[in-house]
Parts: sequence; structure tokens; C-alpha cells
Amino acid sequence: MTQCCGCQSQSARYKAILLFGAPGSGKGTQGKILAAIPGFLHTSTGDLFRALDPSSDLGKVFREYSTRGELVPDSFTIDLWKEHMRKVVESGRFELATDLVLLDGVPRNVNQARLLADAIDVVKIICLDTDKLDVMVERLKKRAQKEGRADDADESVIRNRMDVYRTNTTPILDFYPKDKIAKVEATLSMIGVFTEIAKIVRPIKDALDGYPVAQEPSPRPAAKKAPAKKPVKKPAKKVAKRAKGRGR
Ligand code: AMP
Repeated sequence: MTQCCGCQSQSARYKAILLFGAPGSGKGTQGKILAAIPGFLHTSTGDLFRALDPSSDLGKVFREYSTRGELVPDSFTIDLWKEHMRKVVESGRFELATDLVLLDGVPRNVNQARLLADAIDVVKIICLDTDKLDVMVERLKKRAQKEGRADDADESVIRNRMDVYRTNTTPILDFYPKDKIAKVEATLSMIGVFTEIAKIVRPIKDALDGYPVAQEPSPRPAAKKAPAKKPVKKPAKKVAKRAKGRGR
């Protein structure tokens, strides 16, 4: 990657899609689904932290903060993510010109957004949004049982994570241009959310790969209505004859 004075030039920044949403909104699930498509890379800072050796210095810092539902200090987090990306690029698993990196769980506050600005070119922000926070809490509790995640096992820690999201993360949306933000209802089915995300991401990826950018299909012409059948009238003569007959 071309570097000048420690910052990355415009063209060398990673083209990025930010996945936003409260804990439990499905960022990780959707990021993983999308990353099954070549040309997409999913990165989750939560996953990077959990993959650390718990006895390492950073592993201990992570545990200390995450068990309280709090954010790990910004510099540790952004350094960890940048180092991860450096290794991914070095190993040839990310094509700067055409690949898109999905950022899941980062930036989590405005300071992190600033610290990332020299490294990422944000092409879209997908916000998995909902008013139904209780659905998110239930999802997190289920995930805690399945995956044994300490930070999701306790409802008060979950509620704290939700509060941290609301207070720290929502202002980030004001940091980025409004026209880059797309909202998707988070409580749709998994495939429902994915379908909405795919509609948003496809034109971006198609353009990068040189495919003609798909147009919205034009509405089909309405089917012609069959002319209404006229009621069959019985010939007046026969009716008159029958009436005559009955009168005899
Ligand atoms: P997540 O898996 O994204 O819900 O993150 C789990 C925990 O990892 C969080 O509660 C934080 O303690 C820590 N963490 C993950 N991403 C970040 C971040 N961008 N900034 C600070 N802490 C983070």
C-alpha cells in the first residue's frame, strides 16, 4: 500500500461499507453472509478482540472492558483493526481496486471515525435499524446461551451495551454525508435483511467490477382487461310464445 507520512493516499484507502446497528441487530450475521461472495471482506472488531490470547496484555484489557459492556479504548481498537487489514492485504486476500471491506462494530464513536478516516474510503453506511429494542435483547440472550458470550449473558450488561450504542454510536451518523446512509429494518427475517442489503450493495460492487449497473426493472405493462361478458338475453319472441302457451 502506498503510504506518505503514515497516512494512506486517497486511492490506497480501503473501500469500505460500514455496518451499523445496535448489538443484536444482525451486523455480524449479515457481514458473514455477504463475505461469502468473493470481493467482500468482513471484519468485526469484536471478533478480533475475542480471537486474542486472553492472557496477552490486550486480551486482558479487552476482558476488563467487555465484561462491563464498555468500549475498549479507541487507540487499541483502531490499531488492532489496521494491523489486521495490513496482514490481510499483505497475504493477498484483499484487492484494493475492487474489493469492499465490511466494517462491523467499528467505528463505535466519532473519535474512532476520525482515526479511521486516513484508512477507509466510506462508500456506504448500512444501518440495521429498529424501534423494537426488546427483540434485540432477546436475540442477544439466545446468542449468549449458544456461544457462551460473557457480555451477553447478563441483561444489565446488555442494556448497558444498548445505552453505549445509543449515546456513542448514533452521533457517528452525523459525521458522514447523509446520502451515504441507507436504513434497513433489522427485525426482518435473515433473508429479508440480506435481500435489502444486496439491493443497496449490488450497484456499488457491479460498478467496481465493470459490470453494467443494474437498473430498477421497469414496471410491467398492466395486463389488458378482458371485455366484460354481455348478459345473454333470451330472444323476446320465445318468451312471448311460452307465455302464450301457459295462458292456454
Ligand atoms: P461486539 O462483538 O461488536 O458486540 O463487541 C464486543 C465487545 O468488544 C464490545 O462490548 C467492546 O468491549 C469491544 N469492542 C468491539 N468493537 C469495539 C470498538 N470498535 N471499540 C471499542 N470496543 C469495541
